[in-house]
Amino acid sequence: MNLTDGLVEAIRVAETRLPKWVYEKLLEAYEKSEGRGKAQLAAVLKNIEIAAKEGKPMCQDTGLLVFHVKLGDQFPLKPWEVEEAIREAARRATKEVPIRPNTMDPLSGKNPGDNTGKGVPVVHLEVVPGDELVVSVRPKGGGSEYPSKLCMIPPSKGLKGVRECLLNAVIEAGGKPCPPGIISVAFGGTVEKAFELAKENLYRPSKHEEQRVAELEEEFLKEVNDLGIGPMGLGGGPTVLDVKVDYLYRHPASYPVAVAFNCWAAREATVKFDKDGNWEIVSENVSEADLRTPELEAEEGIELKLPVDENEVRKLKASDVVYLTGTIVTARDEAHKKIIEEGSPIDLKGLAIYHCGPVVRKKGEEWEVIAAGPTTSARMNALQAEVLKKTGARLVIGKGGMSDNLLKFFKEYGAAYLAFPGGAALLAAKAIKKVKGVYWLEELGMPEAMWVFEVERFGPLIVAMDSHGNSLYKEVMDKAKKKLEELVRE
Ligand code: SF4
Repeated sequence: MNLTDGLVEAIRVAETRLPKWVYEKLLEAYEKSEGRGKAQLAAVLKNIEIAAKEGKPMCQDTGLLVFHVKLGDQFPLKPWEVEEAIREAARRATKEVPIRPNTMDPLSGKNPGDNTGKGVPVVHLEVVPGDELVVSVRPKGGGSEYPSKLCMIPPSKGLKGVRECLLNAVIEAGGKPCPPGIISVAFGGTVEKAFELAKENLYRPSKHEEQRVAELEEEFLKEVNDLGIGPMGLGGGPTVLDVKVDYLYRHPASYPVAVAFNCWAAREATVKFDKDGNWEIVSENVSEADLRTPELEAEEGIELKLPVDENEVRKLKASDVVYLTGTIVTARDEAHKKIIEEGSPIDLKGLAIYHCGPVVRKKGEEWEVIAAGPTTSARMNALQAEVLKKTGARLVIGKGGMSDNLLKFFKEYGAAYLAFPGGAALLAAKAIKKVKGVYWLEELGMPEAMWVFEVERFGPLIVAMDSHGNSLYKEVMDKAKKKLEELVRE
């Protein structure tokens, strides 16, 4: 029996068409937003539309592939045969959808290039009564995994401790997990069970079935949104689409609290196989007929040509909207390290460094950019100042913001940080007119390599950290921390 066609289709649907219930919540969030927050969500909704219409992954971070399998005890395949089919589907989907090769050996840094490796794809398999096989695929991006938090609270603190753990996790996450998404908190049990439950609930569309827990979900939802972090950490709208809460009985002496995040790209699709191998997609994912993209107002902005000189960057102020034309280069953690150790392979003076790991495919002799949204910039906090100093690059593009410590270097070097709407990978790809070159591809793999792009009106980008010491993230976060103090005092 061949399962791979159905599994590859489930991966394709999950990557290209958001679950309907998440899409509906994003539309509601858009209606409740204003200013910068509304503009961020408009870009996200436009991006979802392009993904559904063109059948392309909605985000360049196509995630680690996570499968939840319910295998009927009368189904004609054994668990290990299903797992082998899943591995094969991951390899095929990498080329066919295509999705970004995202798995790497943590010791050597090597990327096998096919989304497999020790422990991945992740498979949770449960044998259930019946003769069917049901597989849900949940691609999980790095930006929404990064802020996960586990607290071991003193049992005497009880729900007060749960609330503190949740709200602190949201503050620490800021704009990193591309808010607004789903947050799930589970408490009690053992550490691994609490996390398992929290992650499972990220995909539950409904409120909790127990009234007392559903009330807690409402309460936490209001409190998280009262923090005001907002779309992409820039304020102006909801921080979260929904909060899920659940619990397990616990040991009297231990009280684990697990907080899991999903970004707006809370992806999932489900395929069902009958005992003869016939399959159908059974999840409700958005189709073209469901799309209700708001009209995008053409945003006015400052047009900058790259390379840009110091004076022009010093004129930029936090909140300005900017469009870039010229050369930008991608660099993530590994490329930053290599620039520091070996120098840049091309002259970056006056150019923009883009925190991005794109999905790119070879078309004849040329490269075609499929998806190229920003990655979580905070990962480069410790490396950025040295890279700017060493290369003379003047602009940094990313999402989620960077450490306040960098503001003094932006001042000294005449540099600025520009925010692109997190996950809006297809909008970004449309502005990339040509791949001019790629460096360190063999050694670092597709996401970590340095790609050199020719772009035209790349944006809208918001000046989120300028060369005068201003940071929109700091502004939003200072207010959120004050609110947090009030909430945990109550
Ligand atoms: S939407 Fe943001 S957090 Fe989610 S996978 Fe994409 S880049 Fe990562």
